[in-house]
Amino acid sequence: MINPQFDKLLCGVIKRLGAELLFCLSMLSAFLIIEPLSLNAIESPKALTDEAALDISKPPYVPVYRIPLRVHLGKSSLSPSQFKEILAEINHIWWSQAGICFEIEAVNRDEPLKKGVDIWFVPVMKEYPASNGYYNGDHEIYVRDAPILGSASHPAHSSASRTAAHELGHVLGLHHRQDSDDNLMRSKTFGWLLNVYEIRNARKAAAQKALPDKSPRHCGTPQFAF
Ligand SMILES: [Zn+2]
Repeated sequence: MINPQFDKLLCGVIKRLGAELLFCLSMLSAFLIIEPLSLNAIESPKALTDEAALDISKPPYVPVYRIPLRVHLGKSSLSPSQFKEILAEINHIWWSQAGICFEIEAVNRDEPLKKGVDIWFVPVMKEYPASNGYYNGDHEIYVRDAPILGSASHPAHSSASRTAAHELGHVLGLHHRQDSDDNLMRSKTFGWLLNVYEIRNARKAAAQKALPDKSPRHCGTPQFAF
């Protein structure tokens, strides 16, 4: 017969060992999850430091990947001057976090690019009137002129910029992530932030779509060809 005191002691030891085993396993799994995130393994990027954050001439990662983007404004209800700020903010969202930007040509016509990305700004999408944005491949992206978005702690200035930057996230292979209103890949909020997984994956996709000259550290000012 087992002594109840000994039984209690034995149970305590087993529980403690179990807890320690669980702790070890969780530490091991955390290590296994975190380690592959090392961006250094991909391309020796420049980490975002306080110094770099203060100096807007320094991208957080190099090389900066520049992707051609044609913005079609023929159907938009907004003026070209309103688009200057909208387009600048799209590039700010991507360049300041991921070292990716878009060489933008704003046009009044519908001819898509052969290489690069096309976005149409429209007052409302006829087929999807409740939608803010629509992505169906690199040359079929629609964004509403004034998307209706929920609040975020760190909001973008313009809902059109935020929605266009979100659709460009899909271009760069990102999926929706609904765990915070501050996320760029969250549905229908003003959030614009990316996490390290998204930055890594977006940079891998951007490297395949970027212009061959990787020496510039910025994209140029959007050009209005009309
Ligand atoms: Zn989306």
